[in-house]
Amino acid sequence: MSKRFVIALIKHETNTFSPIATPLSAFGHGNGPSFGEDAKAAFAGSNTPFAAFLDIARREGAEAVTPVAAESWPSNMATRATFDALVQPLEDAVRAGCDACFLDLHGAMVVDGCEDAEGEILKRLRRIRADLPIAVSFDYHTNLSPDSVANASVITGYKTYPHVDMYETGMLAGDILARSLRGEARPVMAWGWLPLVSSVMRHAPEDGPSGEILDYARAMEKSGRVLAATLLPGFPHADTPYTGVSAVVVADARADAGARATAQQVCDRMLAIAWERRAEYAFHPEPLAQSVARARALGASRHEGPILLIDHCDNCGSGGSQDVMLVVEEILRQNLDDVAIGPIRDPQAVAQMVAAGIGSNVNVLLGGKTEMPSIGLSGKPLQLAGRVRNITDGEIVFTGPMYTGLKSHLGRTVVLDTGRAQIVVTERHHEPFDQVIFRHCGIEPAKKKFIMLKSRIHYRAGFKPIAAHIVECAGAGVTNADLSVYNYRRLVRPIFPLDAI
Ligand SMILES: [Zn+2]
Repeated sequence: MSKRFVIALIKHETNTFSPIATPLSAFGHGNGPSFGEDAKAAFAGSNTPFAAFLDIARREGAEAVTPVAAESWPSNMATRATFDALVQPLEDAVRAGCDACFLDLHGAMVVDGCEDAEGEILKRLRRIRADLPIAVSFDYHTNLSPDSVANASVITGYKTYPHVDMYETGMLAGDILARSLRGEARPVMAWGWLPLVSSVMRHAPEDGPSGEILDYARAMEKSGRVLAATLLPGFPHADTPYTGVSAVVVADARADAGARATAQQVCDRMLAIAWERRAEYAFHPEPLAQSVARARALGASRHEGPILLIDHCDNCGSGGSQDVMLVVEEILRQNLDDVAIGPIRDPQAVAQMVAAGIGSNVNVLLGGKTEMPSIGLSGKPLQLAGRVRNITDGEIVFTGPMYTGLKSHLGRTVVLDTGRAQIVVTERHHEPFDQVIFRHCGIEPAKKKFIMLKSRIHYRAGFKPIAAHIVECAGAGVTNADLSVYNYRRLVRPIFPLDAI
């Protein structure tokens, strides 16, 4: 009889300061979760761990049962009922009988009444079957918890930021578990956690301590000392007791009698680097007017490709409302010319401009519709006059290195042309990590002098290759890299850099 693998994806990066709600419909990137065969169809062949798990099932001649695939862009916590609607199909599939379970999880999901959603998922599965082999792939921005480690057999996580190794990460976790099912490996894990809340703006390997740690982790995997070594820099916008920098290492007890000690040594070394260099995980922003003036000056001289202005404090890819207009306002105030901006989420403005139609002149109160009491920020729209240049249905397919091949949905999308700026306005939230966001509505990013992106690091996947210069612009919003704007209540204290340790 062939083996039966249960493969599921439940992913949400929860920003507990975000003003954005997370209804069930937010999963599936706005179209609701996929169940059963639909889940398989939605993710097969994409650059995701889920797709890697499907390939492993095929390779092992196993039946792939896919109860649920549900991923929402980051936002505030989902309700218990929403969480249960995602987890119950998975529990039912495991209860029906299986040989192993492969989970594509985020690692920073918080649910109303549960600060450790991934630990809860794993505990529930363990309760159904105490000896179930479970492989988990996590996002880089995981706040690792004791329950997750105690209840998974194998854990891996992304080693890239932007995350372009999603498939590879799933393949590594899934392959170790598949080998253990064949009796060829006996995975054991060690892990550690640091009281260190690190700024996402300092997470990219080229920017802070992560590069050195990831190089070491890769070298350890390549040497064969361990099966997998994962750094998890954490997600600082989830206010939980698990928030921090962690590492988890898998070693093979079949090949190495001291596997657990080996795994612990490698893990400790990774975290020692993070702690020694902890000051480099803090971000020190430049005043906004100064950043925009710097971009403007760069634009005055000859350059190949656009200058990127990164509006990183309001990144919907980490829970931002995507409608804070501060950086746009400054760009227009300083008269930057030939700018593409996007995307601004504003369903009301979209409705108004769609009703006006392509070619119409409009007066719009753009953005600033969202109140953010968690950081004391009020919505402030920007009054703009311009022409409706284009209208699309916002249905896109990623062709860049992130989520390659996956479909996504911007909702109805309008290009508002103010003369100096072409602003992409969408109905739904979407981080601009792929040039398709502009191209699908008739803007060729490579030809623009300036591009303003509501993103933090993921824009680098699609836009860094064409950029002449990159200027980080500190606006405002719930993804502010300055962690002192947040009123943390649930973090373990003392914690660096909020406390002097
Ligand atoms: Zn991430």
